[in-house]
Amino acid sequence: MAIIGIDLGTTNSLSCVYRNGRAEMIPNELGDCKTPSAVSVLEDGTVLVGAAAKERLVSHPEATAASFKIWMGTEKTLTLAGRKFKPEELSALVLRQLLEDAKRYLGEEVEEAVISVPAYFNDDQRCATKLAAQLAGLNVKRLINEPSAAALYHRYSAQAGDCQLMIVDFGGGTLDVSIVDCFENIIEITAIAGDNRLGGDDIDRAIAAHFCRENGLTEEALNPSLRASLYRQAETAKIALSGASAASISLQQGQTRYSLVLTNDLLRQLCGPVFQRVRTVISRAMKDRSRSSRLNDVILVGGSAQLTVFVDFLEELFGRRPHAAPSPDETVALGVGLCAGIKERAEDLQDLVMTDVCPFSLGVATYSRRDDKTPHMAVLIPRSSMLPASHQERFRTLHDNQTGLRFEIYQGEGYFASENLKLGEVEVQVPPGPAGEQSAVVTFTYDIDGILHVSAQSSGGDFRERLILNPNLHLTEEGKEQAMERIRQIQLAAQGDQRDQLLLERALRLYVQTIGRQREEAAGIIDYWRYLMETGDRIQRRRDYDRVKERLDLLEAAAEEDPLADGLWFGESEDGDFGENFDGEFDEDSEE
Ligand code: ADP
Ligand code: MG
Repeated sequence: MAIIGIDLGTTNSLSCVYRNGRAEMIPNELGDCKTPSAVSVLEDGTVLVGAAAKERLVSHPEATAASFKIWMGTEKTLTLAGRKFKPEELSALVLRQLLEDAKRYLGEEVEEAVISVPAYFNDDQRCATKLAAQLAGLNVKRLINEPSAAALYHRYSAQAGDCQLMIVDFGGGTLDVSIVDCFENIIEITAIAGDNRLGGDDIDRAIAAHFCRENGLTEEALNPSLRASLYRQAETAKIALSGASAASISLQQGQTRYSLVLTNDLLRQLCGPVFQRVRTVISRAMKDRSRSSRLNDVILVGGSAQLTVFVDFLEELFGRRPHAAPSPDETVALGVGLCAGIKERAEDLQDLVMTDVCPFSLGVATYSRRDDKTPHMAVLIPRSSMLPASHQERFRTLHDNQTGLRFEIYQGEGYFASENLKLGEVEVQVPPGPAGEQSAVVTFTYDIDGILHVSAQSSGGDFRERLILNPNLHLTEEGKEQAMERIRQIQLAAQGDQRDQLLLERALRLYVQTIGRQREEAAGIIDYWRYLMETGDRIQRRRDYDRVKERLDLLEAAAEEDPLADGLWFGESEDGDFGENFDGEFDEDSEE
């Protein structure tokens, strides 16, 4: 029985285990440690998760979802192939896939997991994450903030001395900035700020929008496949720019080919508004920290932190080039893996202490005077309090012979209670008496797992306690059983076939992206490979895999060739390379 750590990301999810004295990444069936957080429903109702599902964003956008983490904790439902899913159900499917991969890799059952969430996740979003884990059949006692995990790993791996660090985690859909104090064996997060609607996706969007502007197109007028293809290419070009000086994007619509050349200068310009928002978050973190001493280092984690123009921007902001973690996209997962190790009480980790802060203020609604109509927040636990945090406050009756005191519990930074998120309420009886004579003491305890315990004790001896669970997500036992059953019934695509399935989905995507002879070539591959998938002929698949993959690589290279460099789409000669009859060649091979 093992405990694993999971980084359940907006774009990519990763898992990690602590064994043999170190945090070890767990690869999926494809041998990749990053599993795209994408889910797609196949024609037969089974569900694909990961790289193969991501391919289907282009070929089957109406059956596929990605980036659904940004909807966690909301009422939003997503429709995939006519079936409705809540964000936590889609996350449950991703978790189930990670769990299966972990069991296979470790060769043992996985009993429990620690999962990371963005520091800025509110209570709704945290509850939704826990619910997702439950739906996946995973026991999750502990959530950890992503930057805490990153800090934990950095501290552990770099063996850094006492220092104050800023961790900047810039992913696909979220930005988290945290300030961390490392002192002896204590890691203390002293401030966090974030924006859970800001990431690499926004940069892809800015590139896509620019592409459309330059080519006189409107995004809305593109069909879903073309649009998805545009986003895919925008992302590829963006990533390529960290190593090259220019990258191009092109789209074929009807008889017309549209294109754009992206350079670092252009990218920097398109990223302007995104970076402006990054700057706001960074300065809020700087203002919130408890000590004003100098930062010793800025550590970059997350996929988007690898972007050259982003590092340039930070260098300009800080006057010094920040430090990129050795594997920025795995840092959080490695930290969660360490955390799982701490949970298992791995000996060599025992003396590492980790503290965390509360990402938002918690309090109750209160009235200043008897005739006060608009309740405001009496904050019991202010934002950035060290966790676990506990605080008590006494509240008195406002009216003569009042029979009870009712406390509405809120989370948020707004002055008026109504501006914040209501989490629940607790009410205690008080004996009759003149206004202000009777009272109740309210106690808030917010623990490191992100669970809020609220209790109220009245002067009359009445005592009530609440564990805060979000009313929207707090399903009845029956409701939860039903939801779990629904998720259980969904079949993940067969184990052992992921690699082959990815090949097929990739061919299907290339079919969508190409025309003419290239498209025929793709069709030939699809036909043949589908046949091998359907007849369950694993041996033949194993034999042909490399050859088919090579074909796809060539097709991909041709499809993405820079349209400005040569006149590929006019030429017939290049197509000749793909002209051989596909089936014929495989028939020959199968006779070996
Ligand atoms: P999340 O934590 O949101 O799941 P990741 O940390 O995995 O996301 O980051 C995903 C984002 O990073 C995507 O927007 C992707 O385009 C971007 N990304 C990944 N690799 C690179 C790279 N080498 N250069 C720039 N951006 C990258
Ligand atoms: Mg991340």
